[in-house]
Amino acid sequence: MVDLLLRNGTIYAGDAEPWPGDVAIDNGVMVAVGTDLRPEAARTIDLEGLSLAPGFVDMHAHSALRSFEDPILTPKVLQGFTTELINPDGIGPAPVTGERLADRVEQLALSEGRGPPQWPWRSIGEYLDELERTRPATTLCPFVPHGAVRDAVLGGARRAPSTSELRAMRREVARGMDAGAWGISFGLVYTPGAYAQRDEVVALSSEAARFGGLISVHIRGESHNLIEAVEEMIYVSRRSGAPLHLSHLKVLGHRNAWKLEPLLETIDGALSGGVDITFDQYPYGAGVTLLSALLPPWAHEGTMEQMADRLRDPSSVDRLLRALGDPDAGPESFYYQCGPEGIVVIDCGPDGPVDVTGRTLAEIASSRGVEPERLVIDLLLETGMSALVILHYADESAVKAIARHPAMLVGSDAVFAATPHPRLWGTAPRFLGSYAIREGIVTVREAIDRLSFRAARRVGLKDRGAIAPGQRADLVAFGPDRVIDRATYEEPELPPSGIDWVIVGGAVAVDPDGPTGARAGAVARRLPA
Ligand SMILES: [Zn+2]
Repeated sequence: MVDLLLRNGTIYAGDAEPWPGDVAIDNGVMVAVGTDLRPEAARTIDLEGLSLAPGFVDMHAHSALRSFEDPILTPKVLQGFTTELINPDGIGPAPVTGERLADRVEQLALSEGRGPPQWPWRSIGEYLDELERTRPATTLCPFVPHGAVRDAVLGGARRAPSTSELRAMRREVARGMDAGAWGISFGLVYTPGAYAQRDEVVALSSEAARFGGLISVHIRGESHNLIEAVEEMIYVSRRSGAPLHLSHLKVLGHRNAWKLEPLLETIDGALSGGVDITFDQYPYGAGVTLLSALLPPWAHEGTMEQMADRLRDPSSVDRLLRALGDPDAGPESFYYQCGPEGIVVIDCGPDGPVDVTGRTLAEIASSRGVEPERLVIDLLLETGMSALVILHYADESAVKAIARHPAMLVGSDAVFAATPHPRLWGTAPRFLGSYAIREGIVTVREAIDRLSFRAARRVGLKDRGAIAPGQRADLVAFGPDRVIDRATYEEPELPPSGIDWVIVGGAVAVDPDGPTGARAGAVARRLPA
């Protein structure tokens, strides 16, 4: 007698051409995979006409605090994501000191949410214990967020660490790895990650490498210094010995479109030189970020209050207005690269203006009768720095060229915003249904392999990613002719079609009517090798 029998699916097992078969599941684990299995089962689901894949892995998930509000993680399970790598971009709720707690809560509010009313944790281990208590519907795999480590040791200081401070940071990374993290994440364009010089990145990556950890990195620039930023991390990977995973790889800015080829050549060159590199991507030509990210680095220094003062002081405002249109004023120069007509305001927080969301900076500026550069500053002040924007940065053809690369894996980078980016609801079905099945950019088998087996193995998860006896029963059953994303920039919260069943740890988390409320995910902690 087994718990669950899945019959007559087209099985994409992870290592072979698809074949028709059955999967028997007991105690959260696949116990038999074959044709015409006939065990007695408490429940049988007929998958006639459906394809069956291992559960999908989101390589870049901003779900570190979401489970405290919505442990079902609805937009994720509906896409077939059963495992999520959390704390990307160097951003995370731990480690944190009591002194910096209030600032951290504010800093994470828009990218990760607020979490519980009081954060009872300080260390990564304590945070993971609390996260586990939320009983999430997906399995969450933590990284050590470098920005949090730096903040815990150095506060917001914009300088290199002293020898003893660097030693303290290494200790924090080791504590996080000991607590079960799968690697270290960096956000080298964000505060305070951007203050780290290359040596610091090497030292802390070496610490993660001691535990067999992976580097996950939002590189130091995705627009005019894109190639140098990739090269920096290739150097870090070589020096530290840690394998390298680049987050949300892209060429940012239409003016940089010519860099696509040099980018892929740089990666191929490192790969053939023996550097272990993968990257993730969300299949869209637009990203989401804080409106404040349009400002140059010097504007971010210190506390939120100091930043607001700079936006009110006429002398610094003048400098800021000029910096927005200057391609060399910051690492990304989003405003210069995307233009006010390519930047859409999507969230202004609870106290911000209500009449601006869903509109471009150009539209809002013209209806208010102000220059769009001036509007950026006004909106930052009106929203207490919290406004979120979508940046339309690249043509879909460039996105697809990156998706074709064999080192590409899938990461949603999805933020649970009030008006989210459509990738929150559409990433996996768009890659599988649109890019693979309909357009043939990669084969269906390749797409599934990247979404499951290769993603799981990349981070070191050996208990999932394949359909085989002994593997954790994380599975996705989809209609191959129906699976597709439906979320758009205009209607970003439309769930995908064609993903009929999602099984997490042997429990049915999604059935044809939607999420069932099952919460059989967990926090996955890396065990010492
Ligand atoms: Zn990022």
